[in-house]
Amino acid sequence: MADTAAASGKAPLLKVEDLRKHFPIRQGFFGRVVAQVRAVDGVTFDVYPGETMAVVGESGCGKTTAGRCLVRAFEPTGGSIVYRNRNGQEVALDSLDNKELKPVRRELRMIFQDPFSSLNPRMTVMDIIGDPLKVHRIASGSELEDRVADMLLRVGLRPEYMRRYPHAFSGGQRQRIGIAKALILSPQLVVADEAVSALDVSVQAQILNLLQDLQAEFNLTYVFIAHDLSVVEYIANRVSVMYVGKLVEKAATDELYHNPKHPYTEALLSAVPRPDPRERSQRIVLEGDVPDPAHPPSGCYFHPRCRYAQDVCATETPELRPIGEGHEVACHLAEDLDLRGITDLVPRD
Ligand code: SF4
Repeated sequence: MADTAAASGKAPLLKVEDLRKHFPIRQGFFGRVVAQVRAVDGVTFDVYPGETMAVVGESGCGKTTAGRCLVRAFEPTGGSIVYRNRNGQEVALDSLDNKELKPVRRELRMIFQDPFSSLNPRMTVMDIIGDPLKVHRIASGSELEDRVADMLLRVGLRPEYMRRYPHAFSGGQRQRIGIAKALILSPQLVVADEAVSALDVSVQAQILNLLQDLQAEFNLTYVFIAHDLSVVEYIANRVSVMYVGKLVEKAATDELYHNPKHPYTEALLSAVPRPDPRERSQRIVLEGDVPDPAHPPSGCYFHPRCRYAQDVCATETPELRPIGEGHEVACHLAEDLDLRGITDLVPRD
C-alpha cells in the first residue's frame, strides 16, 4: 500500500510528541512509590488525514496504552497530543478538561479488541449503537432509530437485528456492531485496538475489507494497533514498531516490510506466515520475553534479545533517527546490518 497520505503534503490530523504514560508501583502501608512502569516512554509520530497508521509490537510493548492516551481514555504522564478538529483548529488534547473534551470525543472514537466483552450483554443492538447519539444529544426517538438502521446496513448487518442482544451474534457480527458504535458519531479519527485479533482468519479478512470500505466512504483516518504484521501489511500506509514503550522503527509499509532497518522488525517480519516452506523455515525466534518496563535493560532495550548486539548496545541508548525518506530507526548498527525483509527470508548465499 502506497504512503499516499503522508506524501500528499497535507497537515497532520494528529501530532504526538514525546508521549509518556507511566504507572506508579506503590508498596507498603503508606503506598510509597517505589518504581514506575514506563508503559509509553517518549513516543513521537504524526497521523495524516485519510491514512492508516499502524502501531505494532509484541504484547506488553505499550501500544494499547499509547492508543488509549490518544483518545484520553488514559491521562498521559507527559508529552503533547495535538489534534486538528473538523473546523481546522489545532487542539491540545492533553490539556483539555472533561467538558472541553466532550465535543472532541465525537470526532475521536475507538474500536476495541474483544467483541465479546466490549458490548454490554444487557443492551440491545439499538441501545448500544444509539447510546453515543443520546449522550451527545444528537438524535432521539425515530431519528435515532433511523440512524442506527442506516449504520447497521453500512456495516453489513440487517436493520431488523436492532432489537436483538449481543449474545445472538457471531464474533464477526459483534465486531461489526462495535464498528457501528464507533462510527455512529461520524468521527474523523478511529483508534482500532487489535480490532481483528480475536477473530478467525476468514472473518478477519471480512472485517479488514469492511474497515477499508468505511474508510473510503467516510474519509476516516485510522490508528491501527496490532501485534500481527500480516494483518498490518494489508491495511496500513505506514507502520510504527514499538518495543518496551518506545518506537524503534517508523516507515511506509512497503519500505518497512522490504527494507527493515531494526533487528526487532526483522524478527517480527520473519514470523509472518508465508506460503513457501523455505521462507517458513527462516523464522527468527526471539529468546526471552519483552523486558519489564519498570526495569528495562541498559542501553538499547532490545540488546539482551538481539542477535547482532555489540558492546555499545549494552551501554548507549540509540535514539530514533532518520535513515532514509520517511524512514526512522533506533539502532546503533542500522547502516551496517543487512537485514532480511518479507520477500527475502530465504538464505542469500
Ligand atoms: Fe541490536 Fe544493538 Fe541495534 Fe539494539 S542497537 S537493535 S542491540 S544492534
